[in-house]
Amino acid sequence: MSPSALLADVVPFSWVDGPGNRFAVFLQGCNLDCLACHNPHTMPRRTPRARSVTVDELLDQVRPLAPYLSGVTVSGGEATLQAGFVAAWFDALRADPATARLTRFVDSNGCADDAVWDLLLPRTEGVMLDLKALDPGIHKELTGSDNLQVLQSLERLVEESKLAEVRLLVVPGRNDSDDLLRRTGEYLALHAPGVPVKVIGFRPHGVRAAARSIPAPTDEQRSGYGAAIASAVGPQLVTVV
Ligand code: SF4
Repeated sequence: MSPSALLADVVPFSWVDGPGNRFAVFLQGCNLDCLACHNPHTMPRRTPRARSVTVDELLDQVRPLAPYLSGVTVSGGEATLQAGFVAAWFDALRADPATARLTRFVDSNGCADDAVWDLLLPRTEGVMLDLKALDPGIHKELTGSDNLQVLQSLERLVEESKLAEVRLLVVPGRNDSDDLLRRTGEYLALHAPGVPVKVIGFRPHGVRAAARSIPAPTDEQRSGYGAAIASAVGPQLVTVV
């Protein structure tokens, strides 16, 4: 029987979920509780809004689109919570002549243990990893958990040359102090040299009521975030959105 997962959404053509034009799958359920989450409906492990999908069904959707795609990305929620399904789907994509050339990427919050990475890393070209805050206390305020496992994941992905991008969501007044940005840049320069960094300014659109009063950063603030990270890792590696 074809393995199944709980699915929140599919975007057949996405330009923002990894390199090129990608078939993006958003799995249901997350193991963080982020104040600034833009898709809070994907957080519960079970919800009537989600639907079950099988590997075969997704493969059938990707096959006719494959000539127009660079690859597929599995996101969430947190994709690694359904790692067995992701592994089975990536294997199926690799085995099918119509989809074998597509790259397979994972978008993760990093809260995954070694067993999950043992399963997924041989099957993926790259992981895009969120780092919500380098400081464990601020990470806990923003997500409900500290960041020990996130940093362990980041360092393992670097060791295995599978860290495709680090994503920093900067929330004004919460994780944008000059000191934290400087330390974050220094940490990335040391532990993830040469890895692209996307600095994302918080936007209140779609967030929960508790986060709606947080202002979006001004253009000047966003440029300042990018410059602070770029001064440590190198401007060629940083994009600001
Ligand atoms: S990790 Fe992503 S999906 Fe999960 S709660 Fe945080 S922002 Fe939302």
